[in-house]
Amino acid sequence: MKKSKEHKFATKAIHAGVDPDPFSGAVMTPIYQTSTYAQEAPGVHKGYEYARTQNPTRQALEANLAALEDGYDAICFASGMAAMDAVLRLFNPGDEIILSSDLYGGSYRLMTKVYEKYGLVSKFIDMRDLTKVEAAITPKSKLLWIETPTNPMLQLTDIQAVCAIAKKHEVLTCVDNTFASPYLQQPLKMGADMVCHSATKYLNGHSDVILGAVVVNDKKLSDDLHFVQNAVGAIPGPNDCFLVLRGIKTLHVRVKQACKNAKKIAKYLVAHPKVRNVYYPGLKTHPQYELAKRQMRKPGAMVSFDMVGDSYEAAKMMMSNTEVFTLAESLGGVESLIGHPASMTHGSIPKEERLKTGLTDSLVRLSVGIEHLDDLIADLEQALKEVKLPEDEASSIS
Ligand SMILES: *Cc1c(COP(=O)(O)O)cnc(C)c1O
Repeated sequence: MKKSKEHKFATKAIHAGVDPDPFSGAVMTPIYQTSTYAQEAPGVHKGYEYARTQNPTRQALEANLAALEDGYDAICFASGMAAMDAVLRLFNPGDEIILSSDLYGGSYRLMTKVYEKYGLVSKFIDMRDLTKVEAAITPKSKLLWIETPTNPMLQLTDIQAVCAIAKKHEVLTCVDNTFASPYLQQPLKMGADMVCHSATKYLNGHSDVILGAVVVNDKKLSDDLHFVQNAVGAIPGPNDCFLVLRGIKTLHVRVKQACKNAKKIAKYLVAHPKVRNVYYPGLKTHPQYELAKRQMRKPGAMVSFDMVGDSYEAAKMMMSNTEVFTLAESLGGVESLIGHPASMTHGSIPKEERLKTGLTDSLVRLSVGIEHLDDLIADLEQALKEVKLPEDEASSIS
């Protein structure tokens, strides 16, 4: 697959990084379940010395991910959080990291509860507003951490515009591309220096692996992150790398179908009398509908909504009654999941912070999978039927 840079996305997803095994001709990359490699004489080896440093299964996945993001290299880690951790280790005490204010809960926790104590300074801003981005940058700013679309409010950041501002001030950029996947959005092409993934989600797509990756556009960042990968050691095992590599072969097919289902579900929810706000970048009413069309191939398969009356009880009732949607954290699998950000994924963010972004107590987040649309809608319909709204609100809508 030497020419993989010239191939279309679907071809890269299936072939990039995956060459027949030189030993046996195995078409699928073998799981090199080994910790070490034999040397012919001291220092004479085939390029593999110890599996924290190099593993052929991991390297195949890294080459595949680099191709999917049109990057120079990818570096894989034991989880999405370990990938973010590796990026943060590139900086020094006193450096400022500017992050999207509507952020994955674990990223917020890593930044504020782990790295602030080592002297990294975090600033959270609404990156939808470019004047705020410009205003937040000081001579101490070293990294802009962009999450788009955000979790769970599905707000978008204009990657191209923010990266242009960062470049002007010589600030590095890293985009958490977990929610979109490289099939929908390729930040490196829009000027980002790094892309971070929780491959646990869409890339693997089958809810059976935890894995993370950083994809970079230049050799210096690649060398620095490989150094961290080897020195710190938060590497993924070869079996997990194999599973993600297998999952990626259908990424484009899965994501396309999930987006189709999500759009129909978003429209169904908009028309439902018990639903108050629906957040989905593919709705014309989404304030960034045009940006979504420009920046993403499709608007994604995550849909959030809250309920008339905004009661936690109503949301709880709904989530306890779905049968096809499983009540669980995480996203991006072939199966549909339903979750309650305020108590689950975003439990570690203080309530006043949550409310600033619109993350109310009744907010429900759907990760729409690829089951039959009719079954998904019927499931939401029956679950919403069980929901009793607070008295006054109910009478005003019936
Ligand atoms: C899940 C997730 C992460 C963390 O990834 P893990 O693989 O769970 O460590 C980071 N960012 C986003 C947007 C996520 O959804």
